Amino acid sequence: MLEQFKKIKSSALSAIHLVKNLADLEVLENKLLGRKNGELTGLLKGLKDLSSEEKRIVGQAANDVKQAIESAWAEKKLELSRVEWVKSSEKESVDVTQSALPLSKCGHFHPITLVKNKLEDLFISMGFMVLDGPELESDYYNFTAVNIPANHPARDMQDTFYIKKHPNWLLRTQTSSVQVRAMQKYEAPMRAIVPGRCFRNESTDARHEHTLYQIEGVVIDHGINFSNMKAVLEEVVKNLYGAETKLRLRPKYYPFVEPGVNGEITCVLCAGKGCRVCKQSGWLEIFGAGLIHPNVLKEGGIDSKKYQGFAFGFGLDRLVMLKYGIDEIRVLKSGEMKFLEQF
Ligand SMILES: [Zn+2]
Repeated sequence: MLEQFKKIKSSALSAIHLVKNLADLEVLENKLLGRKNGELTGLLKGLKDLSSEEKRIVGQAANDVKQAIESAWAEKKLELSRVEWVKSSEKESVDVTQSALPLSKCGHFHPITLVKNKLEDLFISMGFMVLDGPELESDYYNFTAVNIPANHPARDMQDTFYIKKHPNWLLRTQTSSVQVRAMQKYEAPMRAIVPGRCFRNESTDARHEHTLYQIEGVVIDHGINFSNMKAVLEEVVKNLYGAETKLRLRPKYYPFVEPGVNGEITCVLCAGKGCRVCKQSGWLEIFGAGLIHPNVLKEGGIDSKKYQGFAFGFGLDRLVMLKYGIDEIRVLKSGEMKFLEQF
């Protein structure tokens, strides 16, 4: 039996010496010292069958063997633990040359706000004020003051949401509602833009929304004429769509201007060659404008013999759709993350 203990000792010590990692060390531990099938455990169990004299001698030797194996095992475990810790900490080391992770969940501006901010910066650089106005507006400022009296057919084209019990209140259909408010407050001369939200009682589809954004502009001064208006609007479209963009003005009726025009630019998608978006015409309509009607100046308390002015209105949603090539207006206010994350 003493021989057997010696044999186990030498084979165990050399096996422990050869182990290369903690997992293998654990397997070896079970093989030698496991409670059920451990080689050394099995041999130790046999001690009980020996005579008391034999037990004393063999027991002593067995104990020495067990201690030698256990201390070799503990030493090896410490050594392997150190090696594996160094290996894993090398893997986790910080590479200071690596660029910072992108803040993918950081919020950003909506495309409508991006275009609005760009236009605001441009107009401020040309000496315009940026004004705000109420979205819940009176019938007077939304229609009557801008030369659309009750029963005027233009009202039919701008059906909106009315307030029960307050028949003279409505959700404004256009930012033009701020024109007369601004004239009354700031008087002439004046340059202002009014970006803001408007509402229409519309059946929605790919091109129509019940809630939309406009940007209104008003310039009033001595001797303002059509050329001044064209120069300002040309600057705006070139700033938005590039220096090569051409602008053309075509006559159009709007009640609050006289004369009135439609502003069209060379199609940003086909550069004027003709495509589906511009209906093969090569031109895209992006604003309405004109010289302010004397009736509107009068409502604003401005003498139309002394002062003249021009006004214009852009549909911000349309500008955004053309700038980014979006063909469905409803996505703009959908809150759809897949859409919004692209900007
Ligand atoms: Zn086109």
